[in-house]
Amino acid sequence: MSGISLRKLRKTYGALTVVHDIDLEIADKEFIILVGPSGCGKSTTLRMIAGLEEVSAGELYIGDELVNDVPSKERDIAMVFQNYALYPHMTVYKNMAFGLQLRKAPEAEIEQKVRETAKILDIEHLLNRKPKALSGGQRQRVALGRAMVRNPEVFLLDEPLSNLDAKLRGSMRTAITKLHRQLDSTFIYVTHDQVEAMTMADRIVVMKDGHIQQVDTPQMLYDNPVNMFVAGFIGAPQ
Ligand code: ADP
Ligand code: MG
Repeated sequence: MSGISLRKLRKTYGALTVVHDIDLEIADKEFIILVGPSGCGKSTTLRMIAGLEEVSAGELYIGDELVNDVPSKERDIAMVFQNYALYPHMTVYKNMAFGLQLRKAPEAEIEQKVRETAKILDIEHLLNRKPKALSGGQRQRVALGRAMVRNPEVFLLDEPLSNLDAKLRGSMRTAITKLHRQLDSTFIYVTHDQVEAMTMADRIVVMKDGHIQQVDTPQMLYDNPVNMFVAGFIGAPQ
């Protein structure tokens, strides 16, 4: 069970507080999107959940477990960044299989998992290629696939589409939504793109200056923004 609770979660860098005691309950298998302008604390929040940044104050639960002091690699989490790095000397297949091979999973099981994942992402025909022979969108699919094969309970994505052109972003939105439906994972997704937020999220968390402004479904946010900031963000032209 992989619901996530943030209870008065805070991050400070020296005298600077960048996440201010935020409370958020994320349900098991929910698709949550964090939005807000650059510098508002989205990545920092995600990185605390991943265990890549220490929590300064408050409590972070994954399922029933208080994970403040649990090292990143012991959390059942996969993360995909904007600047994903594939292993250049490995084929797509190997890039996807590598993590499972390190964990000594049986080879037949690995192959089945890689092929199944590649099918969902429509990269089956690319399995024997090296990353340099792929387009940006194809590479991003491989990066997603590499994270997915681990079947994480929690999937964290930090602006995964922001390096792609508009057309690719559209098809990747569909691919990620489909992924969420097929996996049994909780998704926490960071973006500053309101179209992504409005079309993909079960609920949207609007952040500003390290504070949460509103947490609601896309429809509720659109119909009942709590303040001008939320209204401005959701209604802004692209
Ligand atoms: P977002 O992802 O919403 O653009 P971030 O979470 O990356 O924002 O950053 C939030 C704030 O924290 C920003 O003001 C940023 O400059 C600051 N920040 C991030 N990382 C560090 C760091 N390692 N040291 C000091 N300040 C940082
Ligand atoms: Mg960021």
